[in-house]
Amino acid sequence: MPNSVRVRFAPSPTGPLHIGGVRTALYNYLFARKMGGKMLLRIEDTDQNRFVPGAEDYIIESLKWVGIQIDEGQSMGGPDAPYRQSERREIYQKEAFRLVEEGKAYYAFDTADELDAMRARLEAANAPAAQYNAITRMQMKNSLTLPAEDVKARMEAGEAYVIRLKTPRKEEVRLNDLIRGWVTVHSSAIDDRVLLKSDGLPTYHLANVVDDHLMKITHVIRGEEWLPSAPLHVLLYRYLGWADTMPQFAHLPLLLKPEGNGKLSKRDADLGGFPVFPLEWTDPFSGIVARGFREDGYLPQALINFLAFLGWNPGTEQELFSMDELIAAFSIEQVHKGGARFDIEKAKWFNHQYIRQQANADLAPTVQRDAEVAGFDCSIDKATKIVALLKERVSFASEIFPEARTIFYTPETYDEAIATARWNDDAKAAVAAFRDALQADEGDFVAEHIKRTLSEAMQQAGIKQGKIMQAMRLALTGSGIGPDLMLTMEIIGRPETLVRLERALERLN
Ligand code: GLU
Repeated sequence: MPNSVRVRFAPSPTGPLHIGGVRTALYNYLFARKMGGKMLLRIEDTDQNRFVPGAEDYIIESLKWVGIQIDEGQSMGGPDAPYRQSERREIYQKEAFRLVEEGKAYYAFDTADELDAMRARLEAANAPAAQYNAITRMQMKNSLTLPAEDVKARMEAGEAYVIRLKTPRKEEVRLNDLIRGWVTVHSSAIDDRVLLKSDGLPTYHLANVVDDHLMKITHVIRGEEWLPSAPLHVLLYRYLGWADTMPQFAHLPLLLKPEGNGKLSKRDADLGGFPVFPLEWTDPFSGIVARGFREDGYLPQALINFLAFLGWNPGTEQELFSMDELIAAFSIEQVHKGGARFDIEKAKWFNHQYIRQQANADLAPTVQRDAEVAGFDCSIDKATKIVALLKERVSFASEIFPEARTIFYTPETYDEAIATARWNDDAKAAVAAFRDALQADEGDFVAEHIKRTLSEAMQQAGIKQGKIMQAMRLALTGSGIGPDLMLTMEIIGRPETLVRLERALERLN
């Protein structure tokens, strides 16, 4: 394939970007990078009624956070600027008027009431689809039915009108979707769609097709919900005289509810207690805050890895992929047709994998902050050691401090079952001997040295170390399980270790 691959992500700023939108952007990005092509960001804001302040910035920030880099487009500039459709209205108007001149579209003056009346009439007559089309258009008020002077007079008088596509009556419209194969639709199923609204702004369909053409888009990769619009777009390319350079289409599978039936919604996410937006979003009208993956503690690499697998699979066993590895492995042909079940447990699993790989120093500030919030002094050095001790056990950085309870709190109670099973005479003797050894010891209080001190003390006391280790852990932490005990002692320090051994001897005897 030539190097001129150009794809676009074309969100509408109608609210926070849904996670499905992030996946669409990701697949576009992977494909563009894989093919050595370009990725554009176009803001489709022609529906003024649905405009939400802040949504555009949110989209741009989300893409940045997950690491999807735009080559041209809103916030970046480029040869096809402006990239916000509301700033391109003359471009669409020109094409819409050209279609009218060429007899492929027409002016329609019907009022909302007249359109309602038409629908009611058709429904009463049991017509299969109550719509403005090749048959019904002839009973309506438009430039196909009204005399030319009348049309002219109405327009000059400033009467409201729209431009509608003159959809052919009997024709098959076909397109070869890269994921779904051939899709065929009969033109009678496509109505005379409005292309230009009475406010002079285009509808999504016209603006989308005109821009994809002018911006030399080669591949339209978007969600399955747009598949029903694709035949209309094919028709538009043909009418506009651009069929030869029409982009190829690839419609991505839906994201399904966790149970697998139906489309994933915000409500499912609320019920399941997980986010569906990349970043936290405060609704500018209601002030309601919706949670975000970022604020919930997901790492962007983990979210990307998770999303990549929602509808695509490399065909190997490998699951962990960096962005560069995804780019190398990705292919449109391997995108699935069927919907992808949104399993938040899998997202957590990915996060766990990436948390483990994070540098200890990167996670330490979170632990330090959480410790301080809980009222403990915690140096960054101590926090770093805690991270090293515990990061294998958690899925989120915020889980490290709670896991570190035994480090910050001197045990008040001891696990009864473990005490009953393990707190025998050998155990008592072992704890006492270890305490004595630590009191006498002057070496650096680091894990390696502590380990040596313990094993020497046990040797001298003639106690088999393997038999008393769980009791030792119980004495030091109150629990029978936990992370590496030598490192735990290093972090809590010699004085506190001695306090705990002493206390265990008193409490457990
Ligand atoms: N503006 C449309 C959306 O919000 C874009 C659909 C397309 O990519 O063609 O999803």
